[in-house]
Amino acid sequence: MRNTWVIGNWKMNGDLAANAALLKDIVAASFSGSANLAVCVPFPYLAQAQQALAGSRVLLGAQDVSQFEQGAYTGEVSAKMLKDFGVALVLVGHSERRSLFADIDEVVAAKAWAALTAGLTPVVCVGETLEEREAGQAKTVVLNQLKAVADVVGAQGLTKCVLAYEPVWAIGTGRTASPEQAQEVHGWLRVALADMAVAQIGILYGGSVKASNAADIFNQADVDGGLIGGASLVASEFLSIAAAA
Ligand code: PGA
Repeated sequence: MRNTWVIGNWKMNGDLAANAALLKDIVAASFSGSANLAVCVPFPYLAQAQQALAGSRVLLGAQDVSQFEQGAYTGEVSAKMLKDFGVALVLVGHSERRSLFADIDEVVAAKAWAALTAGLTPVVCVGETLEEREAGQAKTVVLNQLKAVADVVGAQGLTKCVLAYEPVWAIGTGRTASPEQAQEVHGWLRVALADMAVAQIGILYGGSVKASNAADIFNQADVDGGLIGGASLVASEFLSIAAAA
């Protein structure tokens, strides 16, 4: 059985008061499903979230990690520092990092490696832009993004990762991939992983997932849950999505 996940990505949202309310509602919910739950919070709120989530089944995640271990890297946050705050998993290669902050494939791979070395689970994000999809390049793009990470961490490393397919055109746009579109890409990724003898890793879908569409997407054969942006900021939405996984 593959693990299923529902991971919230708060992005650059929240403040102490809003986070406290959101975390309290998430922790208070009696959740009986089997999915692994996590929230990826902004760096300054790791300590707050660590405390709020203590003793709950919701894991703590971060949204980025430095590719470097320590030293003169102003502004960077190392994997070891994240570990210090009880972080279990970290997003790498989110399309917003790729497009706005120059996280090219080599950097994404180095970040995945840094996370693995520190014992964190990298959630490796891949996905094509609308132009790439319309040019018929979606498959090549996502498989190349996966290969860049596989080349550095190896099959052994990949088995400790979670993969997230996030079509760039569906992120924050309200335009979700259809369940069939998601399944098609997840199928390509699953075959590529199988070719590397990586069988059991979860492949999450992300991009405008909400309570109303989660079940249809999660029901696809190769979709093992979701990476949730906007909807993870509303406790009731996030919990409904978690229940659908
Ligand atoms: P969204 O974001 O759910 O707001 O589309 C998903 C993501 O970027 O991880």
